[in-house]
Amino acid sequence: MEREFSGFAVGKKEDKLGIRASSTCELILDACRVPKQNVLGQVGKGYKIAIETLNEGRIGIGAQMTGLAAGALDHSLRYARERKQFGKPIAEFQAVQFDLARMAAGIEAARLLVYNAAKLRDAKLPFTTEAAIAKYFSSQIAEETASRAVEILGGVGFTRDYPVEKLYRDAKIGRIYEGTSNMQLATIAKQLLATR
Ligand SMILES: Cc1cc2nc3c(=O)[nH]c(=O)nc-3n(C[C@H](O)[C@H](O)[C@H](O)COP(=O)(O)OP(=O)(O)OC[C@H]3O[C@@H](n4cnc5c(N)ncnc54)[C@H](O)[C@@H]3O)c2cc1C
Repeated sequence: MEREFSGFAVGKKEDKLGIRASSTCELILDACRVPKQNVLGQVGKGYKIAIETLNEGRIGIGAQMTGLAAGALDHSLRYARERKQFGKPIAEFQAVQFDLARMAAGIEAARLLVYNAAKLRDAKLPFTTEAAIAKYFSSQIAEETASRAVEILGGVGFTRDYPVEKLYRDAKIGRIYEGTSNMQLATIAKQLLATR
């Protein structure tokens, strides 16, 4: 689709909760005619191409969400060592240590799921379910980890003086785009019921 084709328009720039550095607009197609030389792939195979693109993209979203969670842990570790309460760094409180440990465990699991899906994809083996699992799990971990990070930073975690509130807002999209978490669960369940 070229910008100047009749029937094609770009909608308004969306005002979003997170990933605000990336602009998002609706693409409007209304009785749009596409010349033959612009066709990508085969006519009538668009759904398959779109789904295959989404399957691969899910590994990317899994990696994005794992990276976001790793960033949230880095900020939490730094702050927990710096911030003193009751005469000592908050990193010395076991409750805070356990939160950091939970974050690390989730990130490790998410990373391995993403690597597993990517490894299967690279080896040209089936990877649809593994990609869905990686995306589903890592977006959940990103949300949980960013939320814990906001809490570890306490009041300042809720302000824009520190970056964790941004990570908390950015994490939400992981459960929505490239197929919502429900769609990932549907993919996983479909394979489960067909093969076991
Ligand atoms: C920032 C951003 C960037 C995006 N970028 C792109 C892009 O580059 N390209 C692109 O094509 N799209 C893009 N999207 C669209 C995005 O992929 C969709 O918003 C997303 O897949 C969800 O579809 P929907 O909004 O129609 O939600 P709906 O389908 O209306 O879903 C609403 C709710 O109902 C649930 N639901 C719907 N159907 C079922 C069902 N059968 N079973 C169980 N639950 C169900 C969903 O899980 C969700 O909780 C983007 C969206 C955003 C917000």
